[in-house]
Amino acid sequence: MNKGEELYSGKAKTVYRTEDPDALIVVFRDSLTAFDGEKKAEVSKKGYYNAQISKKLFELLEENGIKTHYREMVTDNEMLVDNIKIILVEVIVRNIAAGSITKKYPIEVGQPLEPPVIVMDYKDDSRHDPMLNEDIAAALGLATKEELAGIKKTALEINGILKSYLDGKGLLLPDFKLEFGRRGDEIILGDEISCDTCRFWDKETGNSLDKDVFRFDKGDLVAAYMEVARRIVPEIFE
Ligand code: UDP
Repeated sequence: MNKGEELYSGKAKTVYRTEDPDALIVVFRDSLTAFDGEKKAEVSKKGYYNAQISKKLFELLEENGIKTHYREMVTDNEMLVDNIKIILVEVIVRNIAAGSITKKYPIEVGQPLEPPVIVMDYKDDSRHDPMLNEDIAAALGLATKEELAGIKKTALEINGILKSYLDGKGLLLPDFKLEFGRRGDEIILGDEISCDTCRFWDKETGNSLDKDVFRFDKGDLVAAYMEVARRIVPEIFE
């Protein structure tokens, strides 16, 4: 499968058409942004590690009955995916408080959130991704209440699968972001599941092994992403 016309270029990934109208190629780039694009960097190998981590987690979810857009890797940092129509909703799942929830509400960093907290935001950087409720999502024509309920249920299932898998790799999963899209009549998981879109904390030390290293200048970003890759996709280091 070859890359055709560029369809879309976001902050960290570029999407191309292919000869198959139902398939796209996603290129995981080395660029990195935070704080709605205010902070930017280019970090060698970042795209590679994120692509490999995403691939492994998509495969894990598929093995556990979750439908995703993932098809196969084309190169080390290029993924062939189903051409789905992304729903402009960011689904955030939180198991341990970190990031924006600790700024908006009186919740301390590290507080366990049991049951997990799910928040849905409207995906629009120019509006700083405002939080949605069912009525606003319906008014915007994004998804029906029933569809949102299905998305929430799937997000919780995904959370259970990822949490227990990552626990076995010595990683805590404080929170992560998912995006879903339409494939025919179904709603399936799209986007990526990587160090850019998840918080991963080392179970022993509590250290961040994710984009917080970049957001808050906590050290060597590639070393952190490589450490997650080393635990999740050890085969790429053989
Ligand atoms: N997240 C993301 N894209 C966004 C917003 C959040 O991937 O546009 C992820 C983020 O990496 C974290 C989780 O969703 O794992 C929760 O993010 P939060 O709302 O705390 O925002 P932050 O303070 O990290 O910007």
